[in-house]
Amino acid sequence: MKTLLIRNARIRDDQELQDIWIEDGIIQKIGMNFSEPADRFIDCEGRVVLPGLVEGHIHPDKAFLEERKPNVSGTLEEAIKNTGELKAEYTYDDVYARSEKVLKWAIAKGTTVMRAHPDVDHIEKLLGVEVLLELKEVYREQIDLQIVVFPQEGILKSEGTLERMEQGIQMGADVVGGCPYNEKTLEDSIRHLELVFDLAITHNLPLDLHVDFADHTEDPRYLLTERICDMTVERAMQGRVTLGHVTTLGSLEPEEASALFKKIAEAGITIMPLPATDVYLNGRKDGKNVRRGMAPVLQMLEHGVNVAFASNNIRNAFTPFGNANLLLIGYLLAETQFMGSADQQRTVLDMITYNAAKCLGIEKTYGIAEGKNADLVVFDSKKLSDVIQDQPIANFVIKAGRVIVEQSIQQSVE
Ligand SMILES: [Zn+2]
Repeated sequence: MKTLLIRNARIRDDQELQDIWIEDGIIQKIGMNFSEPADRFIDCEGRVVLPGLVEGHIHPDKAFLEERKPNVSGTLEEAIKNTGELKAEYTYDDVYARSEKVLKWAIAKGTTVMRAHPDVDHIEKLLGVEVLLELKEVYREQIDLQIVVFPQEGILKSEGTLERMEQGIQMGADVVGGCPYNEKTLEDSIRHLELVFDLAITHNLPLDLHVDFADHTEDPRYLLTERICDMTVERAMQGRVTLGHVTTLGSLEPEEASALFKKIAEAGITIMPLPATDVYLNGRKDGKNVRRGMAPVLQMLEHGVNVAFASNNIRNAFTPFGNANLLLIGYLLAETQFMGSADQQRTVLDMITYNAAKCLGIEKTYGIAEGKNADLVVFDSKKLSDVIQDQPIANFVIKAGRVIVEQSIQQSVE
């Protein structure tokens, strides 16, 4: 029986400091003045303790490709094209090394759960899935990894992709992905959606789609959210569908947007903005007053939509920045979405903890409460409302009651 006692933890800004007693990987009790001897003892001295961060959407298999072929135009089209050329040369060891680096960086920044979207298509085939399944096993004591079969090159456009997605699921993938805008016609985009919904239902898996990633409403292949809401309800998939990017929503007229947000909330769909990519690739044709190019986060939250956010890409043609640090992405989101008040900055933290956990379907075992998994991170900040602006290091990362990262000063995670 392994025990861990965490004392003087700042769990909420409006509450006294708390002690957390952990036994066998589970939070057993939370209170004050615990004094039982434990196998391991951490005095937080008032530092913030959050549940482990949840990286809800990331592509480890195509991280760190920026130097190999930079995206000169800065468009989504060139990002997909350049990456398509590069992945033809992938080897197992190459993909493993780059993906492993993403995992190590993320863990050091306080992430204990991750949903990864390796490409599955006629070029990369199932290499990304194979590598991530291996890493899932190797790193299972440090991070929970969900793997999505992601048809980046389309399904109708990329021969054999649907069969490969099916094969990826047989191998152990956890989630069905989709990318309906990357088809040649609207009819094909709709067929793509039908195929991925069918696949998810057949295998009783959640669905996580890249959709509506544009900064205009002119191309109907990038305007499918309403249809997806209907399909979700018709197929009784409420609570199991996530939409990434969805930046087209930022171009809708306010009344139209409001009606749609209501539908998204009713369909129990999670919206997953990917700020580092959305801001970088959108608004490229604006000659002045360049738009932010993101889905409107505050309005969606006000309509009761479950909104999270994630890193998406680390240093490649889609996003030449990033260090797998969700707090940094949170800063970008807070700035660009006008989320500056103390309450709003705490909401930004909720989006990469509780909201993302709900998206990943792990909410029953997740959080800081008695009976929950002891996946925790101690940040070097004194208030939750300061975490985004402090950009603190993770002093301790705890997975299943075990300290897996311990750092008192900024350390290289190479
Ligand atoms: Zn993505």
